[in-house]
Amino acid sequence: MRTDTSQSAILFALHRCGAMSRAELHRETGIRPTTVGVVVDQLTEAGLVRACTGEAEVGVGRVGRGRPAMPVEIDPVGKHLIGLALKPGWIEVGRTNLRGGVLGRAERIAIGDGDVMTLAAKAVVDVMSRQTVAVGISAPGFIDLERMTLLMSSVTSGRREISFGAIVEGVDEAAARLGLVDSGGASGGGGSGGSSVSGGGVAICLDTEVHAVGERWRLTHHVEPSEDVLLVSLADGAIGASMMIEGKPNAGCVLSANELGHCRWGVATPPCYCGHTGCIERLFSSDCLPDFETKLSEAGLPDAGAREAVGQLAMVLANFANFVRPARLVLAGPVMRYVDFADELVRQVRGQLLSVIGERLRIERWAEDCVGTAESAAWLPLAMLMGQRVPAHCAGTELSSGSLNGLVST
Ligand SMILES: [Zn+2]
Repeated sequence: MRTDTSQSAILFALHRCGAMSRAELHRETGIRPTTVGVVVDQLTEAGLVRACTGEAEVGVGRVGRGRPAMPVEIDPVGKHLIGLALKPGWIEVGRTNLRGGVLGRAERIAIGDGDVMTLAAKAVVDVMSRQTVAVGISAPGFIDLERMTLLMSSVTSGRREISFGAIVEGVDEAAARLGLVDSGGASGGGGSGGSSVSGGGVAICLDTEVHAVGERWRLTHHVEPSEDVLLVSLADGAIGASMMIEGKPNAGCVLSANELGHCRWGVATPPCYCGHTGCIERLFSSDCLPDFETKLSEAGLPDAGAREAVGQLAMVLANFANFVRPARLVLAGPVMRYVDFADELVRQVRGQLLSVIGERLRIERWAEDCVGTAESAAWLPLAMLMGQRVPAHCAGTELSSGSLNGLVST
């Protein structure tokens, strides 16, 4: 299922502001009142929106407004999205509702000697039902969206390309079997056939795991779309970044996270999967800092090795921040819950910024452990429904290759 521009704008407004009446939706989106009425009916029929019952949802951007008359809201119980995260050695599959809320427990499956894409296809198909709207897939490394291929990635130890074709075929076949593909190109929510929510089948959104986290951060924080945000996820031996320009991940020449983790120092480290040594994500890892978590969590950061790792990381972050001049630098990941480490990291980054940038740059902390989770992957199709990105594949829909950069021109 996909949404057109007006449908996306209504869903995005309901996500940002919570429940709203049709009159409020008109004021918020600028869409003509009669069109708002038609679109709300379409979204309701498709099971994406419902009339409010009981306590109305309060959205992230809603401030100081009273309870609206006759409100509608995003339906949290009918439809669902599937998230699939590919990781080195395992995959995770789970479902969320259309507000990003987790449904049930995500399932982790070890790959072992099996074929990762075959196992992933089966895992996704096993959780598909007539309530499935779309599938989000995240993976570390580089992705060729036109060929739907995972290029250099830690999932394959960087050694060979593998196609997402098995997942695409599995989802298309399951969508057809479940009656989610309408020959007229429309996918009716209740199977009644009259829905105008466009695009038959089950859309698939594909991106790198850090961009999925960036999408999730952006849609759960009240950020002006015009802001440039550099989100950096920090974990033991894994540093990724998502550079969002005016709210959209920067396209570049190949789909990837912004490869901040492979910024190199001229020092010897164990070899990185990228084939080099000295990468900051090797320096900032238990490879070079034994008892990594313990040393970062200690009050006052007494360990000399930990302080050295913080200094190296801070210099890399400051260099990137000076280079791209973002409005916000978001430092994300579970290590950010170690207050003394986080304080020292922010202090050192600030100390190395150009002063005119430092005066304007907001540095935020987000201590969520959400890189490479099924939950974060499901935010990709959620963003698609709200018009923030295009799918990589949707059965029965011709997608122009020019739009396959994860961006939309809204
Ligand atoms: Zn590397």
